[in-house]
Amino acid sequence: MNDQSIQYIESLFAVDPDLERVIEGIKRENMPQISIAPGYGRLLTILVKMTGASRILEIGALGGYSGICLSRGLGDDGQLISLELREEYAAVAKKHLEAAGLAKFVTYKIGDAKESLKQLEAEGARFDFFFIDADKRSYPIYVDYALRLALPGAVIVGDNSLLHGKVADLDNRSESAEAIRTFNRMLVEHPRLDTTILPAYDGLTIARVKA
Ligand code: MG
Repeated sequence: MNDQSIQYIESLFAVDPDLERVIEGIKRENMPQISIAPGYGRLLTILVKMTGASRILEIGALGGYSGICLSRGLGDDGQLISLELREEYAAVAKKHLEAAGLAKFVTYKIGDAKESLKQLEAEGARFDFFFIDADKRSYPIYVDYALRLALPGAVIVGDNSLLHGKVADLDNRSESAEAIRTFNRMLVEHPRLDTTILPAYDGLTIARVKA
């Protein structure tokens, strides 16, 4: 998708004040400007609504952009558990969800996501929607946990499945590119999953656990 196509698509949509606030907040706090692409944010809302998901696990909160998109798809009894390494990022994300009127849905768990996942598994927690957008080298581990914590029919979405062209460049042997390749292959080849990979923006891998 070239820049002109993206500009055309974005011109169709009204400015979204809740998401603009996130973009501005992230800049102001000098956080990395790596929120999910707008078209994929809208897709997250649609996927949550279409699947009727009510228990979402997000790995990587950053400034709350995807958290807002995910929460918008939830019904009144919906829940979003969001894992975030940095306490200061979770505070920013929480502020943005509050400003968007969505704070009632979200609980942040601070610290290494692998520790939080271990704890959630020990508690017997189960989810029907996963959104993975954190440390790329840990994507394969996150998939393993998602599969163990998934209810039948659960959806697993991973952002940055192309990693700025690094994943498709087979000469690139960096740890993050290799991890994303493993992640994509795990989801595509897993017998319990139906999977697709969307190539727009930085790539989005979407899988559904067979019921
Ligand atoms: Mg991302």
